[in-house]
Amino acid sequence: MLPTQKESRARTRSRRAHHAKTAAHYMDCPKCNSPKLPHAACDNCGYVRPGLSLKVGKGK
Ligand SMILES: [Zn+2]
Repeated sequence: MLPTQKESRARTRSRRAHHAKTAAHYMDCPKCNSPKLPHAACDNCGYVRPGLSLKVGKGK
């Protein structure tokens, strides 16, 4: 099935006006002050939240 009418450039572009990407939010790790994503473990020290931190090691 194909659309019955071609959509105008203005209509296409005004729809895509809402599709802009936004920068990822970062917060500083309270333990080691390196930037980390909220709700994720810190890459540097493995801290997640008080009472939970993951082991971060060199190997697998
Ligand atoms: Zn950390």
